[in-house]
Amino acid sequence: MGGETSRQMAAAPRGAVYVWCNHHLDYPVDLAMQLGRGDLRVVPPSWLEEGRWRGLELTGLVVDHAVVDHAAGLSDSLLRALSEARTRVRPGCAICGRLLGDPRDPVRSLNCGGDCLRCVAEAGDPECLAAMRQVEPGDPAWGRR
Ligand SMILES: [Zn+2]
Repeated sequence: MGGETSRQMAAAPRGAVYVWCNHHLDYPVDLAMQLGRGDLRVVPPSWLEEGRWRGLELTGLVVDHAVVDHAAGLSDSLLRALSEARTRVRPGCAICGRLLGDPRDPVRSLNCGGDCLRCVAEAGDPECLAAMRQVEPGDPAWGRR
């Protein structure tokens, strides 16, 4: 099962929630770290059923194939929770996983073609550097290069 899980984790959006098939999270957390995906938040199925996603904004929601393949399949309550939780997914920056277009942080999270403005500024884009100087005037990282 590790192969398919590895593929799912590698393809998950930055900062996504990863729903594991039970509450033993040591293995999937280790696997995520080995894949360099420490940004993933691995949760048990109860996370969905207990509505822990309410009020959160997720950059992605990935359900491990074993949850679906399991003999019992998805219960009605889990399916309902899953479809509701999916409404909490918002696009995140492809580099850092920050929520794009976050009203609490509109400048840094501005959607610049799939990446946030802050990451594009770090890559040296002059317009984004100028915007970062406005919100973080004291940070030398946004100085002229
Ligand atoms: Zn970013």
